[in-house]
Amino acid sequence: MLFSEFVGSRAAQQRYWARSYLGWRRIGTAAPNAGHQALVKLERHGLLGVITQNVDGLHAAAGSARVINLHGEIAAVICLDCGDRSDRAEVQHRLALLNPHLSEAPQLEHAELRPDGDAMVERWDDFVLADCRLCGGRLKPDVVFFGESVPKPRVQRCYSLVDEAEILLVVGSSLTVMSGLRFVRYQWKQQRPVVIINRGQTRGDDFATIKIDGGCSETLTSILQRCQP
Ligand SMILES: [Zn+2]
Repeated sequence: MLFSEFVGSRAAQQRYWARSYLGWRRIGTAAPNAGHQALVKLERHGLLGVITQNVDGLHAAAGSARVINLHGEIAAVICLDCGDRSDRAEVQHRLALLNPHLSEAPQLEHAELRPDGDAMVERWDDFVLADCRLCGGRLKPDVVFFGESVPKPRVQRCYSLVDEAEILLVVGSSLTVMSGLRFVRYQWKQQRPVVIINRGQTRGDDFATIKIDGGCSETLTSILQRCQP
């Protein structure tokens, strides 16, 4: 959903939150993979930090010490009106209390996945939104929507991290969005090395000192095996 669409109408917010509410149960089941774990181990070999475009919190869950969540975190919620930040699990609990008809119908989770989800559309109109505890304002998951910019202080922290490092290593991103690509261009302009590991082309390939066309987990694991213990 576009940011403008989300903020533009309460109906769009109902649609978004209803789907998000029903999908939330599936999110908790994701676990860090070998790639996440390899990045944690690479800290012993000089990796300074991770800038991630993922919103799933799995780098922190794997144990990465320094993570900047460029596009936010799905586990957090912000108020569009006063900026208050709260826990997604707490909002989920409030949504369950506000929408008992959905909580008692777990089969709707599957209905929602059907392409002909007309019944679900009607339900969206009934969906009761949770408002900000402090100001009664509009809540939004703390993730950057399409058409929304990354908060400037966060972008600045990323540039600082890139400046601190010697090499910018891109892992598993096609860099299709400018929010990530700009750091590659920045590093390239400073005439510092850019290494890209990705299966297939990326928008950053022209700026890469080294490009490895391969899977992230396999490549990182293989790099680790070659590192001195
Ligand atoms: Zn508020």
